[in-house]
Amino acid sequence: RPVIGVLALQGDVREHLAALLELGADPVAVRRPEELAAVDGVVLPGGESTTIVKLAARSGLLGPLRSAVRSGLPAYGSCAGMILLADRILDAPPDQETIGGIDVTVRRNAFGRQIDSFESVVDLGLDGGPLHAVFIRAPWVEEAGEGVEVLGRVVGGAADGRIVAVRQGNLVATSFHPELTGDRRVHALFVDIVRSSVAAAHPAEQAGTAA
Ligand code: GLN
Repeated sequence: RPVIGVLALQGDVREHLAALLELGADPVAVRRPEELAAVDGVVLPGGESTTIVKLAARSGLLGPLRSAVRSGLPAYGSCAGMILLADRILDAPPDQETIGGIDVTVRRNAFGRQIDSFESVVDLGLDGGPLHAVFIRAPWVEEAGEGVEVLGRVVGGAADGRIVAVRQGNLVATSFHPELTGDRRVHALFVDIVRSSVAAAHPAEQAGTAA
C-alpha cells in the first residue's frame, strides 16, 4: 500500500486522510521533515495558504517539501494546496512563499472576495462524467505553461471556462475540494500516480524478479 502523507499544519487534513484510506492507501499526517521523508506522495490540503506556508517554514518543512517535489515526489494540492504548488501567485502578500513545481500562475480568492463558497460542475474527462465541485475562497489558474495539462475548467456561470484542475508530471492541483464531497475520482487519480511512481522506483519488486 502506498504511504501517502497529508501536510497536517492547518486545513482540512482529516477529510484527505479519510479519502486516501478509502482508496486503499496508507495515509499519514505529516508535521515534521522525518515524516515527509517516509512518504511515497504528499497531499497539500485546503486551508489558508499564507498560514500553511508560514507554519511549514517554521517546522522546517518548506525546504524539504520544495526539494522533494523537485525530485519527483508526487503531490496533490487542493485549493490552498494548489496555491502552494504554483510557481507564481497573484493577489497574495508580497512575501508569500511557495513550494512551486507546477508552471502556472494562480490567482488567490479569484472568484471574488465576496463569494465565500459556491458549487459548480467541472468536467475532468474522468469516467463517470462531470464532477460536482465545491469551491471555498478558491484560486483559479490564470495562466498555464506549455508543459501543464489542463484537466478541467468551470462549466457555465460567470467563471465559465476558468481552469480549475491541472497536472504536470507527478503533480496535480485543483481549485476545488474533492475531499469534501465523497467523489473519490480525483484522489483515485492521485493514488494511481503515486502507485506508478513507486513501481517506477522499484521495477524489480514489481515484476517479482531479482534485479
Ligand atoms: N483562500 C485560501 C488561500 O489563499 C484558500 C482557500 C481554501 O483552501 N479553501 O489559501
